[in-house]
Amino acid sequence: MTEFELIETLTKKFPTFHQIFKGIGDDTAVIKIDENNFQLLTVDTLVENDHFNCTWSTPQQIGKKSIEVNISDIAAMGGLPTYALISIVLTPKTKTKWIQEVYKGIQEVCQKYKVTLIGGDTTHGEIAMISITMLGIANKKNLSLRSQAKKNDLICVTGQVGGSSAGYQALKRNIKITNYIFKKHLEPISRLEASKIISPLVNAMIDVSDGIGSETKHIATQSKLGAIIYEDKLPVHKDVLEIEKKINLKPYYCALSGGEDFELLFTINYDKINELKNNFNDFTIIGKMLDKKKNLTLIRSDGFKDKLPKGWDHLQTKK
Ligand code: ADP
Ligand code: MG
Repeated sequence: MTEFELIETLTKKFPTFHQIFKGIGDDTAVIKIDENNFQLLTVDTLVENDHFNCTWSTPQQIGKKSIEVNISDIAAMGGLPTYALISIVLTPKTKTKWIQEVYKGIQEVCQKYKVTLIGGDTTHGEIAMISITMLGIANKKNLSLRSQAKKNDLICVTGQVGGSSAGYQALKRNIKITNYIFKKHLEPISRLEASKIISPLVNAMIDVSDGIGSETKHIATQSKLGAIIYEDKLPVHKDVLEIEKKINLKPYYCALSGGEDFELLFTINYDKINELKNNFNDFTIIGKMLDKKKNLTLIRSDGFKDKLPKGWDHLQTKK
């Protein structure tokens, strides 16, 4: 069973008792406050030796990452973060100094984005975990759902993709990494500033947490459309391609199926591209939304047509 099949199975029988604008299925839940304002809510958990590794990262890096991943989901909705609750699981080996440093990292990010800490939970277990619940707000003009892509929209992505996953693959194998890869994997930064400019112009948006393949599929499925992605258009740094070659991964694997880039993937009407370019140019057009019948297609860099690969599945090691 895939991660998303499991979520569907677990949640489908839950009744809805209160009004919701969007429940399960987007980067955050969305609740209407009034005609023009929406409350956003999301939670993300980082688990030791899976999402962070204490020998690769400093505690401050871990703290920063644990909150940037939440801000990224708020950014993907076209919102602004407001409040946070932090839940931590500490092990008998966890040093007070370590968790203090993690919190220093979290605090720095709260300061940067003006997020107010309002609570959390502290408990113990076998491995360390940091789970952050984040609230945000979005106004109607900026709210960007996964379900609003339109046929013939251009598919775009901010920045570069594949770097974080390449870092993970390399560190796991003790392969030396460049400064670019190091930063991408250990110090990811959400695209909140980009979102402020992009969100009023886009139709649909999602953050790249599980790879371009998975995120395109989410937008296509929720918008009831097909999509085509051109591999050779993917903005992938040469250091990523080098790591892929060294460890015998298909070129562009990290961008398509890796994830944790926390860039924004969005769809936009062709007529709005110039307006966007006038305000923001750190993005690349990588494909197009199509009729549902066309499914999800990848044009490989050698010209061959393929099915768009799946993204990173957090349950992939289990049956
Ligand atoms: P993202 O990668 O943007 O953080 P996810 O892929 O983790 O989003 O989750 C997709 C959707 O499924 C979200 O709406 C999320 O709230 C929901 N979801 C994930 N896990 C669970 C769970 N265990 N129970 C209920 N809803 C869940
Ligand atoms: Mg997301």
